[in-house]
Formats: sequence, structure tokens, C-alpha cells
Amino acid sequence: MKKTIGIILAAGRGTRMGENKMLMRICGYTPIELCMRAMEESCVDEIIITVTDDTARHVHDLPCTKPVKTVLGGETRGESVYNALCAAQDADIAVIHDGARCLVTPDIINRSVEEAKKYGSAVASLPVSDTVRNFENITLDRDSLRIMHTPQAFQYELIRDAYEKDGMHTNTDDCGVFIQADGNPHYFESDFMNQKLTRPSDIAFFESCIHRRLGQMRVGIGEDTHRLVEGRKLILGGVEIDYRMGLLGHSDADVLCHAISDAVLGACALGDIGKHFPDTDPAYKGANSVLLLHRVMTLCRENGFCIVNVDATVTAQEPKLAPHIEKMRENLSGALGVDVSCVSVKATTPEHTGPEGNLECITVRAVATVQKIS
Ligand code: MG
Repeated sequence: MKKTIGIILAAGRGTRMGENKMLMRICGYTPIELCMRAMEESCVDEIIITVTDDTARHVHDLPCTKPVKTVLGGETRGESVYNALCAAQDADIAVIHDGARCLVTPDIINRSVEEAKKYGSAVASLPVSDTVRNFENITLDRDSLRIMHTPQAFQYELIRDAYEKDGMHTNTDDCGVFIQADGNPHYFESDFMNQKLTRPSDIAFFESCIHRRLGQMRVGIGEDTHRLVEGRKLILGGVEIDYRMGLLGHSDADVLCHAISDAVLGACALGDIGKHFPDTDPAYKGANSVLLLHRVMTLCRENGFCIVNVDATVTAQEPKLAPHIEKMRENLSGALGVDVSCVSVKATTPEHTGPEGNLECITVRAVATVQKIS
């Protein structure tokens, strides 16, 4: 069956931003992630993302319920689009979207697809409401002008053939390529919010738009205890710590990862790790709990949540954990897909009281806050 293919362009250099804007975080989300989420929730069947080496790694880590393919971008926007079109198989409609327009909604994408099915093409655009004057001081007739946005959707063969004819690849949008190949584009009204992240001064606008779409903040709590025994490794937050005893458990018994996993699952009301990774399942014998935490995070993202922050306290009489805290935070932030500044790990000694104080066990208590974007 013919498919609707969504193409996200994320291979640009972002020279006006001074850094790779596709990897910047706006309220915790990268532009690529926001576009991918909009595509995921739209009627698009498959997603192709044009990437650089840097963005490829990030895309690879993003969970998505729809098939996602990456294609290396070219020297110009046009070359990147052409590479993506060549990688689209059995496509009926191609929806091309600039990754920097990361406030796009599933609704705009769906409208572009519906109208392209009807008219052969559908280009998101806006009328001009400002006075426009050129450098010769001539005021242009704004009623004769339109601002081009993306998504721009086309019947697949029409746009692929247009790009094949366009050897130069210098057009700054797909509609330009389509017109050059004698296409007669159909325009539909975009949304004012569907702006392009271009300059550092744009960030405040993007943050405030995303804040409006963020749902209620939710908190989860997690607690776990494992017994200290001889002949086992001591692994906390993915760090192997040199100590005469280790933690007993079916997996690697990383009690810190387990407590954080439960806090994240709790915040999303998705059960607990015992439910998702039962200790009766041989698949999890000796399992690396950092990888389990990564899988918990995938589940959390599949349900539309992102992590705001995580805080954990390890209660252990011995050994000294302070030298290992930074490495733990790094491992945990990697698994959670958030900046290290959003992950806190603290250690406390119980003053020789209780089972932790008697070296019988180590306990971790953790909280996680999550938010859902609508
Ligand atoms: Mg456990």
C-alpha cells in the first residue's frame, strides 16, 4: 500500500544560531524531537529525517511508535530533500518539513496531507500583515505577497520529478522547485505559531509557546533496598565501586537505577519495574540496570512524557560514595536523555543505625517530575 512519508530536515548548519540548533533544548525538548512528535501524532505513516553525524546520534536515541529512517543531508537544503525523497519507498504523499519549525502541530501536517491528496500539492503559507519595503525604498503591495512556511506536501512523483529536473538545488523551499518544474502550487493557511527557530533571540518566543502546551507537572516516588553480601559486585548508577561486598539481586542489583526507574514509572502512572522487568524472567538475570532505566524512559516517552528532573538519596554506611557521584549522574542523565543538571544524586550515612547502618543493605529513595506536551 502507498504511504504518506514525513520528511524532517535536520541537517542544516544553523549559522545564524551560532550552534547546532537542532540539538538545542527548549523546555527540555530538541527541535527534532518536537517535529518528530508532531509527525508521530499526525496521519504520516513513516518518518525520514535528514541528519548530520551529530544529529544522527540524537535521532537514534529518540523513541517513536512509527518507523523512522535517517538519511545523510547534502551540501544544500535541496540536496538533503532529494536524498530523503530517494530513500522514500512506496510513497504516495511526501510531507517536507523544516526541523527548525518545531512548533508545528499534527493538525497542520494533517491538513497538508489532505489538501495534497486533493490538489497534488499543499504549501503552508501566511498572508503578509506588515508593511514591506525593499532597499530601494519601494513599498511592496503586501496583498500580492505570501510568506512560505513548511510543511509543504506533494504527490510523491510530482515533487521527486521536480527535484530530479532541478540540478542546482539552490531553491530555499520545495514550492520553489515545484514551480520551476511548471507546477501550480496550492496554498493553505499556516498557523502564526509555526515559526522558524533562527536566531538566539527567537528562543524566548519558542519557550513561551511550548510552556503553554505543557500539561500539569507530575511527581513520582521510588524506593528500593538490596542486601549487601560478599562475592557480588557493587554497582550504583552504573558505576562499579571497589568494595569488599556487593548487592544481591536478580539483575546487577543497581538499587539506584531501580529506585529512579520506579520514580519515573510512578510519575507516569505506568506501574513499577517489577511489572515491566519481572525478576522471575531469565532475560533480566544479571541485566545492566542502566539499560533497564533507558527502557523505562522509552516507555515514558512513548506515553508522551518528558523528564523535568530526578533527585535521589542513597542511604549507605559504607563505602564513601562522594568520588563516584559525578559519574553516576552522567550515566543516569544519559539513560534518561536529559541534561546532567536535571539529575541529582546524594548520599547519606545512617550513623550506624538500622539495617543500612549495620551494613545489611543499601537503600535508595528517589523522586522524579515529568511533564506531558499536548
Ligand atoms: Mg531492585
